[in-house]
Amino acid sequence: MAAVRDHSRTFAEFTYVYPVISRRSGGLSLGINLNPDKRCNFDCVYCEVDRRTPGKAGPVDPDRLRAELFAIVRAAKAGELAGIEKFRDAADWARQIKDLAFSGDGEPTMIPNFAACVQVAADVRRAEGLDDTKLVLITDAAGLDKADVRRGLEILDANNGEIWGKLDAGSEEYYRQVNRSHVRFDRILRNLHATARVRPIVIQSLFLRMHGEAMAPGELDAYCARLSGIVLAGGRIKEVHAYTIARPTPEPWATKLDPAELEAMAARIREQTGLIVRTFP
Ligand code: SF4
Repeated sequence: MAAVRDHSRTFAEFTYVYPVISRRSGGLSLGINLNPDKRCNFDCVYCEVDRRTPGKAGPVDPDRLRAELFAIVRAAKAGELAGIEKFRDAADWARQIKDLAFSGDGEPTMIPNFAACVQVAADVRRAEGLDDTKLVLITDAAGLDKADVRRGLEILDANNGEIWGKLDAGSEEYYRQVNRSHVRFDRILRNLHATARVRPIVIQSLFLRMHGEAMAPGELDAYCARLSGIVLAGGRIKEVHAYTIARPTPEPWATKLDPAELEAMAARIREQTGLIVRTFP
């Protein structure tokens, strides 16, 4: 048990890699935080990243990322994560690595050496024989048109990769309210479409209540029309992940939907788009 405790402390001190049990991944996900600096080009009203305290500035070090990934993958395979307190109720899940997921305290595609970091994850996946493990990029889609990022996407494609692109709105106006970004909405849509034309993508959408109001039916219809537009223009959407706020957010007026409300929205999206929609209330 001492070894387990030591590992627990070691992982807490890692800069880039952290283990989580993820409902959306269906098991153990090794998160890769490429944004210890907390930079993001969105400012979502529901964001749980605490930006009142500054992040750690500086470039991402691929060698350190590699060392951390090897250490945590080997610990998971040896069953050592299963002994960590927070995994006590999910010990069976804590051995099988479902994915290595680029998801952290900001937007991963904002770093200048994104492709190099994706290559590190691909190398570790291959070296450790993680044939069933996915590489997942969780992104707000704003940077998917950058040359280095597109190179990173090609590495993902060659290594059981999956791209989960955020879409929380149907109109520019609602997008500005919920994601509060300076990036134009049509750039997000264009990037999702261009990315989905090359490989199937997952759309991840957070639905919530703002100042007591859930998304209006007209906005939901506009959102559905955006998804259908991507498909009609030759894009492939593997599935939609519809979820809501899980923990209290810094904006107290941004609150969660009831499971029944989320299910009703998912049913409407299925009906209007014909897509597979999974809910995570
Ligand atoms: S895109 Fe993600 S990290 Fe960026 S503000 Fe939104 S929730 Fe936070």
